[in-house]
Amino acid sequence: MDPALPFDKIATQAVSLGASLVGAAHVVTLLASPSHRRFQIDWRVQEARSVLVLALAHDDAKPEMDWWDNRQGRTPGNRRLIKINRKLKKWFRKTYAVEASELPYNAHQRGVFLKDAAVLAGLGVMGKNNLLVTPQYGPRVRLRALLLDRFVQCTGPLTGFSPCETCEGFCMRACPKEAFAGGAYRHDRCRQQMEKNESDPVVLASPVVGMPTRFKIAYCRLCELACPVGR
Ligand code: SF4
Ligand code: SF4
Repeated sequence: MDPALPFDKIATQAVSLGASLVGAAHVVTLLASPSHRRFQIDWRVQEARSVLVLALAHDDAKPEMDWWDNRQGRTPGNRRLIKINRKLKKWFRKTYAVEASELPYNAHQRGVFLKDAAVLAGLGVMGKNNLLVTPQYGPRVRLRALLLDRFVQCTGPLTGFSPCETCEGFCMRACPKEAFAGGAYRHDRCRQQMEKNESDPVVLASPVVGMPTRFKIAYCRLCELACPVGR
């Protein structure tokens, strides 16, 4: 069996291309997680060896990174992640003769559960707000992943980081729909807020470079922005 690829060089390359955080996990471990065991996994995921998880920080000083439009990739932040992934994919082929394949964002479209993968790869932990919470940026990150046909040194999970244990729960208090009122995240309540956001788009006074359409949807981020971790 080929030796596992060293992680440091891969991380350096990913960061030089613009990723804020990067980590790696083995696919076999990921598929053993509860959410993946309950789910029909695409054969391409099952045959891969490693998953590389990239995070891009979404600073609240730049809300437009997260605004949805009707272009491919949906948000400027996600389009940037897709570009990083494509460049990394070429780099893997050239540097290691390793085939990397881009994973779609959604687990239900041949992807994986990205938050689970990020936790396994040591990027952060699951917060009470149902989001990945990273030490460096709190929950203010967006994720994408690459599948690799070689083992890479694993980088997680994180130990000694459990910010929610001692926190007052700012995220839960910030929710306008009380989506955490029963102690667990209620997607149906969050969905009501998303529908409200969809019916009330942001209208830009003039087009912004890279964002030609003027109507954008700014989905609620209150439970994300209220978190003090990584400030
Ligand atoms: S605000 Fe507090 S409870 Fe909520 S995710 Fe952040 S650390 Fe955890
Ligand atoms: S995104 Fe908004 S509505 Fe949804 S859970 Fe977070 S705070 Fe509540």
